[in-house]
Amino acid sequence: MKSFVNASVKQTKINLLDFDRKGMQAFFVEIGEKPFRATQLIKWIYQEGEHDFDRMTNLSKSLRAYLTEHCCIVAPEIIFEQVASDGTRKWVIEMGGGNKVEAVYIPEENRATLCVSSQVGCALACTFCSTAQQGFNRNLTTAEIIGQLMAANARVGEQGRVTNVVMMGMGEPLLNFDNVVPAMNLMTEDFAFGLSKRRVTISTSGVVPAMYRLTEVCDISMAVSLHAPTDAVRDILVPINQKYPLQELMAACKKYIESSPRGFITFEYVMLEGINDSLADARALVKLLKHVPSKMNLIPFNPFPNTQYTCSSKEAIERFRDVLYKAGIVTTIRKTRGEDIDAACGQLVGKVQDKSRRAERLERMGLST
Ligand code: SAH
Repeated sequence: MKSFVNASVKQTKINLLDFDRKGMQAFFVEIGEKPFRATQLIKWIYQEGEHDFDRMTNLSKSLRAYLTEHCCIVAPEIIFEQVASDGTRKWVIEMGGGNKVEAVYIPEENRATLCVSSQVGCALACTFCSTAQQGFNRNLTTAEIIGQLMAANARVGEQGRVTNVVMMGMGEPLLNFDNVVPAMNLMTEDFAFGLSKRRVTISTSGVVPAMYRLTEVCDISMAVSLHAPTDAVRDILVPINQKYPLQELMAACKKYIESSPRGFITFEYVMLEGINDSLADARALVKLLKHVPSKMNLIPFNPFPNTQYTCSSKEAIERFRDVLYKAGIVTTIRKTRGEDIDAACGQLVGKVQDKSRRAERLERMGLST
């Protein structure tokens, strides 16, 4: 695929990468064109890798001229790459204005997974996650989200093409709902990336109202960052739990499963020594998930500077897994990938101009803007 113009170029035009097919149809209707133009454009962009409107030969001359004048096709650029000894690649992607996010490419024997970011930083304050320490700057646009996938495919070529996407990079995707959903639609869109709904996963810390909203518009696979079987512990590890406690979260999960292509939810559970890894915790988890079709993904904690946590021992993780397994829950222990380049879960930091903390600091000083 050809490379697209650098995102840092100041944009005053409408970026067509911001539209899924429906959005693009609405756009064409608005400018007095037929909705089928959307499919033509999407094929040009995502199947042909074309970004020069003048070369889109099945469009009328006047439409080509209109698009050239008012629209653009601009994807973000990979500005830095690190390759781990296991083949995992971490990319720093420039989003303009000094903001950078990270995406991680994980090749395996018969698939290649891309871990995509949804926000610059993260507004949630999960205590075991290094992205949280960076604070939050802004939501990524649809173009910037889908652009990570375009940039990845362009970098790795046909052989290494991405087959699976997990929204498990920086940010909480369900707090950027309106930009994330069109991006996911493009991933599963036949005329764009055509990935199976089973191979596109959104991961959430449990933004309950947005989970319900998602059931109405999108039926991709869902992962929920659970991390604790009780509200007392989850309130600390995943503070959004104070707003949407476990009972509400489980009800939302059940509702999602009804419409999910997979018929289950994947739960992520980071293993923290002495915090959430006892046999009693495992039993409480079994009880919690009794009526929720689930798969469990145990994630060995990846440390980062100044963290208060340590990873559970291999034995503790295996003991924990055995309890779940015996109770009939399919449980895997996530293989940590890209450790030597800090590309593992919770280690993505990018470079964030933190607006949220700055605002807080200003407020403390009586200087709120
Ligand atoms: N905000 C979303 C998307 C991020 S996904 C969510 O919370 O689901 C990133 C995954 O890695 C989450 O399951 C997160 O809980 C986990 N994670 C975060 N920090 C980690 C760390 N230090 N070690 C292991 N896993 C971590």
